[in-house]
Amino acid sequence: MLIFPNRGSLRLQQGSGSLSLSRHDWIIAGAGFTGAVLAERIASQLDKKVLVVDRRSHIAGNAFDHKGEHGILVHKYGPHIFHTNAEKVWRYLSAFTAWRPYEHRVLGHIDGKLVPIPFNLDSLQALFPAREAASLTALLIETYGEGRNVPILKMRESGGALKALADFIYAKVFENYTLKQWSLRPEELDPSVSARVPVRISRDDRYFQDSFQSMPADGYSAMFARILKHPNIEVATDTDFRSLPERGANVIFTGPIDEYFGYRFGALPYRSLRFHFYARDERQAQPVGTVNYPNDHAYTRITEFKHLTGQETPGTVLVEEYPQSHEPGKNEPYYPIPTPGNAERLQPYLDAARALEGKVWFAGRLGDYAYYNMDQACARALALFEKQIAPFVRGDA
Ligand code: FAD
Ligand code: UDP
Repeated sequence: MLIFPNRGSLRLQQGSGSLSLSRHDWIIAGAGFTGAVLAERIASQLDKKVLVVDRRSHIAGNAFDHKGEHGILVHKYGPHIFHTNAEKVWRYLSAFTAWRPYEHRVLGHIDGKLVPIPFNLDSLQALFPAREAASLTALLIETYGEGRNVPILKMRESGGALKALADFIYAKVFENYTLKQWSLRPEELDPSVSARVPVRISRDDRYFQDSFQSMPADGYSAMFARILKHPNIEVATDTDFRSLPERGANVIFTGPIDEYFGYRFGALPYRSLRFHFYARDERQAQPVGTVNYPNDHAYTRITEFKHLTGQETPGTVLVEEYPQSHEPGKNEPYYPIPTPGNAERLQPYLDAARALEGKVWFAGRLGDYAYYNMDQACARALALFEKQIAPFVRGDA
């Protein structure tokens, strides 16, 4: 792998480096999960030469991690916990990393107590008088069945005591957190957003229930370095795709789709974040990886990294996440905002993308404008390769 740190668009355009665009069969904008996986597949399975450019100074996209204070591995763009039910994704990534088993746990600061999130039967027990908690538990089990997960918006459709409980959970866990995170109410977003964190009719206090839950043993950046380490792949960091000479074919774009088209149908809304990292001279600052603050503070949650990495150090590093509106060019478009209105705003861009099919492909959290987890971004890249790119290159598309 050749990485060209601090050699930006100027050097490329002047052609002064050993890098020349004509040497590459494919150009990929973005070295995150989507771009890196596609580069690896095209390089290793089709024996084509790939140039990956990223305008950031590093690979790994939003999953980028590096050693912070106390030697603790921190995630520059917020806590990234790997989980998947897709065995194919798990097997694919396992070729590039060993894993450290890790099940993420989250507590919510509610009414002065720390209770499990997703809200479960133990959260109920912690927040209600014993007798009421017991009768509500019985009602939940009778209504939904033990072990089930119930989206809060579904639960609010019930009547009687269940509706009152649902309204309580909605008010204490979802309403203010969602207003902070999205500047929208839960019901204004696609129902799948709040359903990511369902009410659990069980005492399972894990944040995720996926069959594979682990962290890359040496971190994400190390895993990406291995994914991209192929003689057919060159990587140029600090290089914006838009600064490259016009390239009309064999392009994969994993940046924001509206930006690619010069915002010609209007800028798509994204949500951004500001991260506040800080170190403490204590062994452990909070009992679990993440504590959510639905109703207090301007931040939504605090994550303590050593829970994720398993590192034993005398000090610790934490990060607070402060949601912000997105301003193109000023901060990062971290979250596409899944609402029906935004699906309509996206449509003309999808149509414009379709018109370029066979020349330029769009994929990823920003390229598809879709709220993907890492495994979904990886699965999308693998599917795009198998169903479109490989047949196209082999001539049987
Ligand atoms: P990205 O990682 O965003 O990569 C796109 C890359 O393209 C970027 O590096 C960008 O610099 C580059 N780029 C954009 N435009 C251009 C251009 N014009 N020229 C050159 N380069 C360009 N997922 C999980 O599974 N678990 C988690 O715990 C989790 N936590 C998250 C926490 C936060 C705060 C955020 C924001 C996301 C989290 N995710 C999590 C989601 C995860 O980050 C994404 O699923 C994943 O990063 C998507 O990969 P991608 O390659 O599509 O996009
Ligand atoms: N959510 C909430 N309260 C919580 C946790 C989550 O209201 O304590 C809602 C909120 O709308 C959030 C969504 O559920 O944006 C998805 O949460 P998740 O933790 O999956 O978000 P991410 O890690 O992607 O930021």
